Amino acid sequence: MKYRRLGQAGVQVSELSFGAWVTFGQQIGQDMAERLMHTAFDAGVNFFDNAESYAGGNAEIIMGAALKKLGWPRSSYVLSTKFYWGLAEGINQKNTLNRKYLTQAIDPSLKRLQLDYVDLIFAHRADPETPLEETVWAMHNLIEAGKALYWGTSEWSAYEIVSAIYIAEKHHLHKPITEQSHYNMFTREHVEGEYARLFREHHYGEVIWSPLASGLLSGKYNNGIPADSRAAQPGYEWLQNSVLKPERIAKVKQLAPLARELGASMAQLAIAWCLKNPDLSSVILGASHVEQLTENLGALEITPKLTPEVMERIEGVLQNKPR
Ligand code: NDP
Repeated sequence: MKYRRLGQAGVQVSELSFGAWVTFGQQIGQDMAERLMHTAFDAGVNFFDNAESYAGGNAEIIMGAALKKLGWPRSSYVLSTKFYWGLAEGINQKNTLNRKYLTQAIDPSLKRLQLDYVDLIFAHRADPETPLEETVWAMHNLIEAGKALYWGTSEWSAYEIVSAIYIAEKHHLHKPITEQSHYNMFTREHVEGEYARLFREHHYGEVIWSPLASGLLSGKYNNGIPADSRAAQPGYEWLQNSVLKPERIAKVKQLAPLARELGASMAQLAIAWCLKNPDLSSVILGASHVEQLTENLGALEITPKLTPEVMERIEGVLQNKPR
């Protein structure tokens, strides 16, 4: 496992990390969560991602209990959670990054995780209603209170990120250090297009989610929707229209022979392709079974095989490189 700095921050995260969305507290219970985290940590993963909203708070509860059981030193891992969507319906309790919500959300989250602090808080989405200055100050204050070490953004526009950086610089506050974006062979626009200047001029960090497009890039949906897969989970039927598109499945089928030629599974090829992007600090993996995670961690051995010629061949199939 190699480690990369989170943008300009000194902290280093494993280039493959592990997250809890859909799985922890929904598809899988305590025992499987512990086995997955143990497998990841054993392979050198030091970065674990969660969110207040995942499984209505249960993903944090399960990860917290797993951390306690596994007994790793607190210094040996980096843990992130995210705020924005909220857990309750009330005004100031959801879809906001206002000071009141952020300040009230952190303590219950720490309690669920059984931790004194998280390493990284992400603003899970941008909030056009709250003045950016209020959010930057609130994040700064959470860090100064010792409840987090760093903060970052998720799915913000480059304009919003740069504005937050400038506000923080103006007032000598803690700046956001990294984005968390959707990125994979089919979703490239923000990371390779919009953010290029952000990486070049601000050395902003980038950790990416859904490297397999919710499993599509593993090839598991090539011949329909398996009954135990994410797209068949109650509440995730929307994936069937928005992610499992026929033209994408056709490309996955076209890439499969190249994966075989490299001695890789399709999932490993897709993850290794993400790792080739030097602007990324970490690729956040998801898995509902230990076998999936072990396979995906094997992508580290495939990355060196992605020569410029191989990358060209992949580009020839994808035909979606942002300008
Ligand atoms: P992926 O796109 O890699 O999807 C993971 C899912 O694909 C697994 O749960 C499993 O689902 C299936 N899968 C994984 N590996 C294999 C394999 N080798 N063979 C077959 N199927 C496989 O990542 P996620 O979408 O889970 O995202 C990763 C993490 O990113 C999340 O856990 C979360 O921490 C973060 N995230 C952040 C978001 C944000 O807004 N900031 C949004 C979404 C995720 P199954 O077995 O059920 O089919």
